[in-house]
Amino acid sequence: MPELPEVESLAEFLEERAVGRTVLAVDVVAVQALKTFDPPVTALGGLTVTGVARHGKFLDLDCDGLHLVVHLARAGWLRWRDDLSGAKPVRPGKGPLAVRVRFAPGDDGLAPGFELTEAGTQKRLAVYVTRDPREVPGVAALGPDPLDPSFTVDTLRRIVSGSRMQIKGLLRDQKVVAGIGNAYSDEVLHAARMSPFKIAGTLTDAQVADLHEAVVTTLREAVERARGLAAKDLKAEKKSGLRVHNRAGQPCDVCGDTIREVSFSDSSLQYCPTCQTGGKPLADRRLSRLLK
Ligand SMILES: [Zn+2]
Repeated sequence: MPELPEVESLAEFLEERAVGRTVLAVDVVAVQALKTFDPPVTALGGLTVTGVARHGKFLDLDCDGLHLVVHLARAGWLRWRDDLSGAKPVRPGKGPLAVRVRFAPGDDGLAPGFELTEAGTQKRLAVYVTRDPREVPGVAALGPDPLDPSFTVDTLRRIVSGSRMQIKGLLRDQKVVAGIGNAYSDEVLHAARMSPFKIAGTLTDAQVADLHEAVVTTLREAVERARGLAAKDLKAEKKSGLRVHNRAGQPCDVCGDTIREVSFSDSSLQYCPTCQTGGKPLADRRLSRLLK
């Protein structure tokens, strides 16, 4: 699932390639992906892309004041195409293609564009056409962005204070902090040497400062690694840059202990016992409940 660093670099990638181009058409292949009807998606035709932004994990193409807002969800991705002039119309219900954005031909005669694809059967990719991105409910509800200079240690202290949430769940709640999902919350907690099950409100001031440092550094480093990569290379880069997420059974880069996995919410999390939980494996609550 693309998280803040990948969406940030997709935004930069699109900024370089799409700004200044005229939208020829937006073809919605997966009808359920389009969440708005007014203004209609056809209103984007003829408009020029003036900017690309990121809000949490949402991508936002500004087309002369009309915004195409995209959430790639768990299995969505963006694929840039250098020339779509020969592309055939796609019938709904076939394959992973959800939306195709076509631009008018440039001076070189090529008509580039990009495609939003979604693998698997769970269709969650969402596209909105709106005059104001804050009208998208998921954008309106976003907590502070951890890459924004206003996200300070004090911001994080206010967020955790009094919270009864486990820190893993708190970090990936988009209403609390924008842009962090399952992968980077594992990475942040490993960098902060903190148990994912720790209750947020029990963090000391020093731990809040460590966690803040881990959040900002982990995300900045991931953005740096992704910067300049083509959209198609981002997935592999994300995977190779992770130190604990999806690495259960492999040795920890820091201490050599074996990375473990435990169920959490609707998925699983990975962590290093030596670095994060005083060497003790976390109990799998879902499993122990079944065994009772
Ligand atoms: Zn370790």
